[in-house]
Amino acid sequence: MDSVLGGIIGQLHGGSGLWRTFLEICDLGPRFSGTPSEAAAADYLERHLREAGLPHVRRWEFGYTGWRCARCGLSHPGAPPGWAFRAMPLVYSAATPPGGMELEVADLGRGTAEDFRRAGDSVRGRAVIVDAEYSFSVNSLHRRRKFLPAVERGAAAFLLANSRPGRFPVTGSTTPPGSPIPAIGLSREDGTLLRRLGGRVRLDVQVETAPARAANLIASLPGRGGGRKIILCAHYDGHNCGESALDNATGCAVALELARALSAHRGIFANDLEVHFYTAEEWGLQGSRAYVNALSEEEIPGIALNLNLDVVAGSSKFTFLCNGFPDLADWVRGALADEPSHCEVSEWVANNSDHANYVARGVPAVRILAGLDENGSDCGFHLSPADTSDKVGRMDLTAGAGAAARVLLKALQSEKPLARTRTREEAGRLMLHYGFTPPPAD
Ligand SMILES: [Zn+2]
Repeated sequence: MDSVLGGIIGQLHGGSGLWRTFLEICDLGPRFSGTPSEAAAADYLERHLREAGLPHVRRWEFGYTGWRCARCGLSHPGAPPGWAFRAMPLVYSAATPPGGMELEVADLGRGTAEDFRRAGDSVRGRAVIVDAEYSFSVNSLHRRRKFLPAVERGAAAFLLANSRPGRFPVTGSTTPPGSPIPAIGLSREDGTLLRRLGGRVRLDVQVETAPARAANLIASLPGRGGGRKIILCAHYDGHNCGESALDNATGCAVALELARALSAHRGIFANDLEVHFYTAEEWGLQGSRAYVNALSEEEIPGIALNLNLDVVAGSSKFTFLCNGFPDLADWVRGALADEPSHCEVSEWVANNSDHANYVARGVPAVRILAGLDENGSDCGFHLSPADTSDKVGRMDLTAGAGAAARVLLKALQSEKPLARTRTREEAGRLMLHYGFTPPPAD
């Protein structure tokens, strides 16, 4: 094994740094954009990048539409005495009129295109309720593929019921910069009760929006000079509940520890490393989109790889998603040849995390994800108040970090491009769906 990699793997297994960093990020709170917890996470990451000795650390600010929910209530007159609904707004939900509104419930089941077609005009003016699904399955329908048809068909509200038992609601985002209708996540138990009772539900959602600013963090570690750029990234924001531990204290902790481990190796690799921490990812990938959209056409071919860490524990199986770049998938398979942990390489396109903005510009991009197609895994607790540190196994996090280190080092050492940069037209064909989908046939 390469001596640098050997040193990093030894550090990951022998020390407590990665685990301590993970817990410290969890302890900052869930890091919802626009809250003091998000600001504390930016300060924490910036401080630790500087302390690690990375020579260039900066904040990259951008503007976005801020949103805050002051009240999110749901009730039904037929609920058993003492039943407390626990509703969470989806990001960018619209408000109800002050004092709330009453709506007839329309149960659309799973919420497939066929479910909506069958329901036809009956959706209009009603509160549509659909199932949330395991986020990381190739057979799952992404929330947005249910939300958008509900809006198109004139629904007056969107209710998303968790698929996991436990009386905790699911959350997620609607669509930036705002949903035209109130959109609420519910627990599985609340959803089941509402569906059984039918009739009219009362919603009271009060929100505020205002122009806001946020900051991505960028640290760089130059190589020998004349090489390309490898961008390792993780989003540091989370939802407004739990600890956002799986999603994405795991990715942040791994990215920060790899940056720390590599900081002593300035000027030795063929390529330059940049470590990016994005925010407003949970708000429709806005932090990374602002950054990537600001890159010039000349800068794009100089980026050999975007390696995105998002939910890198919660299972002992890791998937390297290569987003419709078969040449990149071949390269990753080679890079992982000696990897001891359970890694799979997939060519499927996954456009629900920050790497999607790189894919849209044709940049070879990989997302490392734990738990793909493991519907029962703890990864399914993300986007909920149950996304807490007990769902993350220390051994899994260490294994994920080791696999990421292996691919990152191979990329930093490569004197050749890892894969071909795609044209905008080629990239556009890859970006048709949310979730995980096979690349389109040429
Ligand atoms: Zn995430």
